[in-house]
Amino acid sequence: MNIKRRGLMLILSSPSGAGKTSIAHALLKQDSHLKNSISVTTRSKRPLETHGKDYFFITEDQFKEMLDNDELLEHAEVFGHFYGTPKKFVFEQLEMGFDVVFDIDWQGTQQIAQLAPNDLVTVFILPPDLPTLYERLKSRAQDNDEIISIRMNEAASEISHWPEYHYVIVNQAFEKSLAQIAAILTAERTRRKRQIGLAEFVNQLRQCG
Ligand code: 5GP
Repeated sequence: MNIKRRGLMLILSSPSGAGKTSIAHALLKQDSHLKNSISVTTRSKRPLETHGKDYFFITEDQFKEMLDNDELLEHAEVFGHFYGTPKKFVFEQLEMGFDVVFDIDWQGTQQIAQLAPNDLVTVFILPPDLPTLYERLKSRAQDNDEIISIRMNEAASEISHWPEYHYVIVNQAFEKSLAQIAAILTAERTRRKRQIGLAEFVNQLRQCG
């Protein structure tokens, strides 16, 4: 039974190192109705990242061109680099009835909230404490000490945006956080307004009686 539904946009935000990227990847692995929004960025690639999978790594000129051509759903400057969400992919997936997960910051979340408040589900992920955040940034071993300390300094200001989100999760245990976000997704998919084929389905049920 396939009731026509409208895709939703699931935004995960957190300070860098709180675990949102790992949670997003695990969610995508277990849920074939969820698609990943791959951002463009002007920052350099980390050793373990892949172009086209983690990000599209582009130059500032290419970024400006995308902006000028209105190809970005939202964009922001984070840690001195530009980041943005390609619009076309997201709209195509939503139209096909897929849901899309975004790993973006509070600035991008605010922009999408203005554009499409009804299609949006936002989750803020908090670290259990600051030493854990520091350890996670260190153990990722992909940034140097200077970048890690910039990211630690930025964490407090990023965290201050938690009240702007629908749901807030403290990422103490990965599996628990993953289960919580999967549950949010299931509940949000079941919302009446997203099941746009319900009226037709119920009409059929009534005709059978
Ligand atoms: P990182 O450089 O660690 O991958 O990401 C730095 C920050 O930029 C993270 O908070 C991440 O969520 C955010 N970010 C990544 N892609 C985008 C994007 O397309 N738009 C916005 N607004 N933020 C993004």
